Amino acid sequence: MNLADCPSLHVIVLPEWENNTVSSARVSLCLKVPSLQPGELLCSFLDEIYAIPTAIQWDSLEIKDNVGNLEVRHFHETGQHEIYHQLFVKRKTEGPILLTYRAAFAPARPNPVLDMGQEPGGVTGSGYCWMPSFPKNVYQLHMEFSRANLPQGVRALWAHGEDCTNLFIREDGLQKVFYCFGKVDCVEHGSFGYYWIAREGVDASPIAHWTAKVFLKMADFFQDSGESYKIFARARSCRMSGGTALNRSYTYIYDPQNPPPFTQLKFLFSHEMVHNWALLFNEPYGTCTWYIEGMAEYYSLVLPWRMGLVSREELLIQLNERAEQYYCNPCIEFTNLHLGNLLFHDLEATTVPYGRGLFYLMEMDHRIRTKTSEKYCLDDVMLKLLHDYRKNPHIQNRAWLEAVSKIAGYDETERFLAMCQGIVIPPELSCFTGANFAFQKRNAFTRREKKPCHIYYIH
Ligand SMILES: [Zn+2]
Repeated sequence: MNLADCPSLHVIVLPEWENNTVSSARVSLCLKVPSLQPGELLCSFLDEIYAIPTAIQWDSLEIKDNVGNLEVRHFHETGQHEIYHQLFVKRKTEGPILLTYRAAFAPARPNPVLDMGQEPGGVTGSGYCWMPSFPKNVYQLHMEFSRANLPQGVRALWAHGEDCTNLFIREDGLQKVFYCFGKVDCVEHGSFGYYWIAREGVDASPIAHWTAKVFLKMADFFQDSGESYKIFARARSCRMSGGTALNRSYTYIYDPQNPPPFTQLKFLFSHEMVHNWALLFNEPYGTCTWYIEGMAEYYSLVLPWRMGLVSREELLIQLNERAEQYYCNPCIEFTNLHLGNLLFHDLEATTVPYGRGLFYLMEMDHRIRTKTSEKYCLDDVMLKLLHDYRKNPHIQNRAWLEAVSKIAGYDETERFLAMCQGIVIPPELSCFTGANFAFQKRNAFTRREKKPCHIYYIH
């Protein structure tokens, strides 16, 4: 498709400031598409995602085109982890379509960070609870944040830029991304930015500088296009810090009373940044989680080690934490699809694909090196898939098997299917060149059910 011919979308967001935070935002979207026929889908919102309610005030919604008011039929459909709220036009449309509505934000929720969450000084969160997705593939977007109703010093940011941004987005490009309107402190380095809402006694700049260094090196390794990438920090009391990765952005939650240790953040951010690149199409959810989370785990450990930005001791602690989480998991033998359905319903099940993917990929690196007499390694397969994914973001496990077969010259299907079925994969540590890791197998018990199992202690 010629990009100059794709539909255009002009969005203006007007955040409102009240009681030292952003209370709401007025959104106006002007969509230029060829005439829609009666019954055709205009756009799709979410009423709910992972039980997080929408911020949209439906009684504020107005839709117009050149003829006047445009009536729509509202249709609700339940998905795997969300409820869609689709708008179908009742008559043929003429000219640009203008949608306006108000979204009212609420106090910040725990992970997943998909709400637009308030804290003193501003809001952070995703577009899922207040932005629509559209039925076509690519849109030419002009995004404008108006700071008319914000006090001096409040910045208006999203993954792709600040204040005004022009870019091409995919159909869910307004939703699958993070926003931040607030009084922020930051570290900005080229395409990398790290933002936290300013508060007494919080200085994230040491970890932000370390992360910038890793990001810029990772961007080279993954042959990145050079678009911007942002990390936003949400302050909220929580038991454990954690976050969510979306397009070119990551938001994490930290407890300002009990900030997470520096080392933990190094590996957390490294993991999240890998999500910019090593991807497969993960629908139904669980099909390719092993790959997406496994790759993020694998390269968040391997790359900082190769770059000399973490010590052997730091790496060892991380590896043993992951080993314990995986080998003692009561759901370790569940199938990939079963685990996908249990996402966030069972926290133990939710973490299995991370460990399974990591230990499988560590084994794969060794196998590819052995089969090709050290000519190729996992990097080569991953980079081939990365290249293929950029051309077609719907590739899945078949592409993985084909890439392995093409680069390493053998059929991986049997071991791959065993992995999907939930076989327990022992550690293979040769990917950490120069670390000279070894392991001991020990008897242990699974968490929760306390069944006998084996754990591998790495040293
Ligand atoms: Zn992840």
